[in-house]
Amino acid sequence: MAAAVMELYPNAKHTIGPAIENGFYYDFDFGDEKITEADLPKIEKKMRDLASSFKSFDKVEVSPKEALAKFKDNPYKKELIEELKEKGETITFVKSGDFVDLCRGGHTENPDKELKHFKLLSIAGAYWRGSEKNKMLTRIYGTAFASKEELDEYLTNIEEAKKRDHRKLGRELDLFTFSDLVGSGLPLYTPKGALIRRLINEHVENVQAKQGYQQVWTPQISKADLFKTSGHYDKYKDSMFRVVSNYSDEEFFLKPMNCPQHTQIYASRPRSYKDLPIRLTDFAMLYRDEKPGELSGLARVRAFSQDDCHIFCREDQVDAEVDRALEMTREIMKTYGFKYKYRLSTRDPKHPEKYIGDPKVWDKVEKWAEKIMERNKIDHFDGPGEAAFYAPKMDLIATDGLGREWQLSTVQIDFFLPERFNLTFTDDKGKEQRPVMIHRAIIGSPERFLMILLEHFGGAFPTWLSPVQVKVLPITDKVNSYAKTVFDSLLKEGIRVELADKNDTLGAKIRDAQMEKVPYMVILGEREEKEGKISVRTRDGKDLGQKDLDTFAKGILKEIAEKTLL
Ligand code: ZN
Repeated sequence: MAAAVMELYPNAKHTIGPAIENGFYYDFDFGDEKITEADLPKIEKKMRDLASSFKSFDKVEVSPKEALAKFKDNPYKKELIEELKEKGETITFVKSGDFVDLCRGGHTENPDKELKHFKLLSIAGAYWRGSEKNKMLTRIYGTAFASKEELDEYLTNIEEAKKRDHRKLGRELDLFTFSDLVGSGLPLYTPKGALIRRLINEHVENVQAKQGYQQVWTPQISKADLFKTSGHYDKYKDSMFRVVSNYSDEEFFLKPMNCPQHTQIYASRPRSYKDLPIRLTDFAMLYRDEKPGELSGLARVRAFSQDDCHIFCREDQVDAEVDRALEMTREIMKTYGFKYKYRLSTRDPKHPEKYIGDPKVWDKVEKWAEKIMERNKIDHFDGPGEAAFYAPKMDLIATDGLGREWQLSTVQIDFFLPERFNLTFTDDKGKEQRPVMIHRAIIGSPERFLMILLEHFGGAFPTWLSPVQVKVLPITDKVNSYAKTVFDSLLKEGIRVELADKNDTLGAKIRDAQMEKVPYMVILGEREEKEGKISVRTRDGKDLGQKDLDTFAKGILKEIAEKTLL
């Protein structure tokens, strides 16, 4: 792309162009020339013309002097070369066709054969080296794949992702809203959105209850001292909202997580080895301060909850507890049809100061986590630097219906918070011991999960999650009373049903129900009334024909109970 741009715009200056997830970009200084997305096809065509002349990528080492001479008219490359020179690093050029660039290398071996399936996607402004003090450059984004099929699938997915944007769907389906008076990053859930959020939580709650988890309820604010003891005050203070009391000078914070408070429930009574494990769950609201510019729909918010759980157990119980958590996660991911893998999030070896506790304990727990993954035959990869400040993490990364990845659940084996809060239990010999604290979430935040589900399903939720499961559509006023009887009996079965008895054409009623993504429409005319039947249609336009009301209701109830994916 840089070669093509430089041929088409000889006065442009190319700067930096890395590979990124799903593609690449390159930043250019086009001087006074204005480049828009309308220019992308022209650049793409030039790329295709040039590709055949790119037989290989040849890397050569050059001296700083040679490098500076080559790029004497490009202040950006000169800045990079000066830096490399200062650090004493090797400077390399890479040549392909007639194009030479300052580059550390890492290329395909047969460019003319392999560089076929690419597309330029968009243009954005970007400051040189990310600093607003510098000049604004033009960034061109593109993507490339090994095959046409993969490229096409990726392009279809980005188109679909635009249609499924949760902010757009959230508005259309009336699930949540924001108000300037309430504040940015503070979503308000409407009845339909609140219902889905509650159903997501209930599902987790039910699975957890079967595994002996107990729900607790804790306040939104805590004294600064709590967070000083846990270590959050030191590591996290800038992300917490400070709360001021009118009656004392005491400093309080809105809580950004539940862990520190749960240690105090554990510490509230003496614990014996026989009491363990104690599994506490909490759906309390949490608050984290975020830069207003970074808030976006439900993706980045300041108020949210988590399906947060803390297990206090003996060291010999850790394996069984983690296995159990992984098993519940498996069950819940299956319900939503998510594929996933795990990331083993460990310390950043370059920044040991970011973590509390004894490095020897870290070594032990990091190895332990890996063994657990292997024992459970879980697909996993390494994530150095992704650990929490108090423990390594087993983070679940789910892939949604559009091939995008999201981090959802986490399991952490923590030896340090119990130590900081001086938690103990009495062992079978009457000696005081330290419990281990396992932090565990399955879906993570139900609010963020709602956003992911909204885009994953494109708003067409499975029946059990749909705010309205059935819509009854009378064809004419004449059957309104029959429609009311059908509506009443579905309602009595506990099905979430709506009656479209406004004076509208059937076509308009069907369109409305489809827009609202109601899974089933019950269509009633004089014939249905006479035969005592109903006609059923799905939201994707399938005609299921005439049915008995009873059979239909039973089918829906089964689908809801089994949380069937449609
Ligand atoms: Zn925790």
